[in-house]
Amino acid sequence: MHSALKTLGDLISLASVNPMGQAIDSGIHLEHRVTDYLEDRLRKLGVKYQRMEVSPGRDNLLAWYEAPSSGTRILLDAHQDTVPVETMNIPPFEPRIDGGRMYGRGSCDVKSGVAAMLTAFEKLVQERPAHSCNVLMAFTVDEEYTHTGSSALSVMDHQCDLGIVAEPTQMQLVVSHKGAVRWKIMASGRACHSSTPHLGDNAIYRMGRVLSLLGEHACHLAGSTPDELLGPPSLSVGRITGGQSVNIVPDSCSIEIDRRLIPGESVEAAMDAVREYLKEKLSPNDFEKIEFGEPWVRMPALGSGSATAFLEKLQNGLIAPNGQKPPIGGVPYGTDAGPLAQRGLPCVVFGPGNIAQAHTEDEWIEMSEVVDASERFFHLLAHWEGA
Ligand SMILES: [Zn+2]
Repeated sequence: MHSALKTLGDLISLASVNPMGQAIDSGIHLEHRVTDYLEDRLRKLGVKYQRMEVSPGRDNLLAWYEAPSSGTRILLDAHQDTVPVETMNIPPFEPRIDGGRMYGRGSCDVKSGVAAMLTAFEKLVQERPAHSCNVLMAFTVDEEYTHTGSSALSVMDHQCDLGIVAEPTQMQLVVSHKGAVRWKIMASGRACHSSTPHLGDNAIYRMGRVLSLLGEHACHLAGSTPDELLGPPSLSVGRITGGQSVNIVPDSCSIEIDRRLIPGESVEAAMDAVREYLKEKLSPNDFEKIEFGEPWVRMPALGSGSATAFLEKLQNGLIAPNGQKPPIGGVPYGTDAGPLAQRGLPCVVFGPGNIAQAHTEDEWIEMSEVVDASERFFHLLAHWEGA
């Protein structure tokens, strides 16, 4: 079995579920089991590495490869965490092979990318090819929720010239993706006995008026000028909470909003546009009784111009065994490449698997793609100075 597949099986069996803001179950949550495993691999490899605590039980792991002669340093970035497993209908942490696929949580997103990058990195360190580039390998935490891992990674201090983020892109060279901002809107009112509702002020009704306006705003966004690769921006309300009991007029109601940004849009401008729309359309009394929470996700989009100067080299380096260059494209989901690019590091996204299988009840990956990705990453890094 190829070492990338052996590694993937090991990684699936080590739970690294992101608690996503919920209570922590020490048996499966947080990334430390995976971090211990990766650290062990790096120690055996004999490279310089650093384990940096981001929060308790959650450490980024960095490792360096110094090439024989190269000025370029490429950051390889893959996240250690997975989404939760409650909705799965297969054993999440028991890798199973069937029909050329490997099943289990993280098999697609993104332990396959971790395995492909790690095994390419190991081969690079062992073989030290003459035309290789310098590499900073980064295994980050908390990608699936608040991106604290990639935020803690100060790429500028590590002098990288280009970043490659592993996510399931079906081996497309992704140069552009949407960003996201998520925040709450709270509506307040006045509670009273439900038999005399005229004495109260119903916060759920108020939120109903807000919701219908947000629906209109979302329609306007869908019809706005689209990004060439990514289409128009979007807005979706995904959660609502309110009221204590059916016999009490509710004094509070809150919703959670997911606003997807296209390149060129800022978090602040997107939120301001929502605020302005509500201010214009709601009664002054309603507008006074709603409040915007601080966003807990503010992930910039990745603009297609970020890594233009490196695209030809990337396409040549990541060429398929049959001689086909990876197609260039965009994806609607966000990745750590957005925040890294915003901090000035040119970035692309590349990896095995299809996002359609990520986060699913029976998550799987085509095993041949994992091997292919590992070999293509190695080819890219080994020939960078000649590509
Ligand atoms: Zn991912």
